[in-house]
Amino acid sequence: MLTNRQLFLELLGQTSGSPLLLEIKEAEGIYMYGPSGEKYIDLISGVSVSNTGHCHPHVIEAVKKQIEFHMHLMVYGELIQNPQVRYGEKLISLLPETLNNCYFVNSGSEAVEGALKLAKRYTGRSRIISFTNSYHGSTHGSLSVTGNEHLKRAFRPLLPGVHHIPFNNISSLSIIDEKTACVIAEPVQAEAGVIYPENDFLLQLRNRCTKTGTLLIFDEVQTAFGRLGKMFAFEKFGVVPDILVLAKALGGGMPLGAFITSKEIMSSLTHNPPLGHITTFGGHPVCCAAGLASLEVIINEKLIEQVQEKSALFREYLNHEAVKEIRGDGLLLAVETGDSEMTGYIISHAPEYGLILDYFLFSPTAFRIAPPLVITKEEIKEACEKLLALIETAYKNTSGCKR
Ligand code: PMP
Repeated sequence: MLTNRQLFLELLGQTSGSPLLLEIKEAEGIYMYGPSGEKYIDLISGVSVSNTGHCHPHVIEAVKKQIEFHMHLMVYGELIQNPQVRYGEKLISLLPETLNNCYFVNSGSEAVEGALKLAKRYTGRSRIISFTNSYHGSTHGSLSVTGNEHLKRAFRPLLPGVHHIPFNNISSLSIIDEKTACVIAEPVQAEAGVIYPENDFLLQLRNRCTKTGTLLIFDEVQTAFGRLGKMFAFEKFGVVPDILVLAKALGGGMPLGAFITSKEIMSSLTHNPPLGHITTFGGHPVCCAAGLASLEVIINEKLIEQVQEKSALFREYLNHEAVKEIRGDGLLLAVETGDSEMTGYIISHAPEYGLILDYFLFSPTAFRIAPPLVITKEEIKEACEKLLALIETAYKNTSGCKR
C-alpha cells in the first residue's frame, strides 16, 4: 500500500520544487500535529490566514451552527443569506464611509480579478499600473499585475496595458494619467520580503490617483485583520483606497475573498453588462460564518492591541550574528540573513526543531515570521529559543559564518 506521502507526490499536482512534505493530522491554536503526535509551532499562519489560531472554538461553533442551517444554496447575489449579510455589515462598520459595499468571492486572486474588472468598467479605461515585486495572485489577471517577470514569462501573453513601476519611487508616479483605470498596490509589500512604504509615498500615490480620476486599489490580502497592529494596514498610513481587496484571514481558516468599494462604484457591475462578475461559491455561507466568528475573536480578545508588544519580543529574542536585519513590524516580519543558502537551511530544517517557517516569494535571503496573533508571550519565547538553536546550526553548517 502506498503511503500518504507517496500518494501526495504521485497523484496531487505539484508546483513547488521543494514542498515542506510534513503530514499534518490536527491543528489547534498555534500548533500543528503530525500523525504520530509530532508537534510544530506554526510561525506562518498558513501564510497570514490563521490570525485567530487553528480551530478556535468560537469559529468551530459558528461553522457547525451554519452547516446545520445550510451550505451552498445558489450562485452569489441571488438569495439573501444571513452569514453574508451579517459579515458584510460587520466589515463595513469597521471601514471608512466610502468603503460601504462588499462583494464576496472565493480567494485573493478572484478578489483581485473582481477589483481590476470593476476599475475598468467604472472608469471606462484599460491601463493598469502596479508595482515591481508585488504579488497579487496566480490567475491570469492577478498574475498580470504581479510584479515579477520570472513568475510570468511562461504564461504570456497576459493582460495588455499593464505597467509596473518601482515601489517607493515618487517620480515614477507621473506615469499615472487620465487613461489609467487603476493602480493596484499592497500598502506593505509582503512577498517582496516585507517592504514598507517610505515617507509619504502612499499619500502621493493617493493624490496622483485622485488628480487623474484613477481608482486606487489596495491589496490587503496579507496585511489586514490585525497582522500589522491595525485592523487594516491602510489605517497605519492614513490613506484610504477606492477599492479594498481582502482574503486569507477574512475567512477565519475557510476560503473567502472580497473586494470592497463604494456603492456607486460597485453598482457599475450590475449593468452594461449585468452580472459584471459572477461567482458560484463566492461568499459561501459557511466561510462567511467562520470569517465573522474569527473577526469577533480578534475584537473580543483584543488581539490587535497586543500585536506590537509581541512583535517587539521577536525582535528582542532573535538576536544572533546571522540575523542581519528584521524588517517590518506587527506580526509580519522578514528575518534577513543576507544569505540564501542559510535561509534555505533554516526553513527546510525548521520541522526538526518543532517549527514551521516559510520563504517569501521574492526575497530569497529572508524567512517569514507571521504567527497566529493569539500566540502568547511564553510561546514566543519558546519559539524563539528553538529558532535561535536552528539559526546557530544553520550558521555553522552553511557559508554564513565563514563570510
Ligand atoms: N494578494 C496578496 C498580497 C497575496 O499575498 C496573495 C496570496 N499570497 C494573493 C493576493 C492571492 O491570494 P490567493 O492565493 O487566495 O488567490
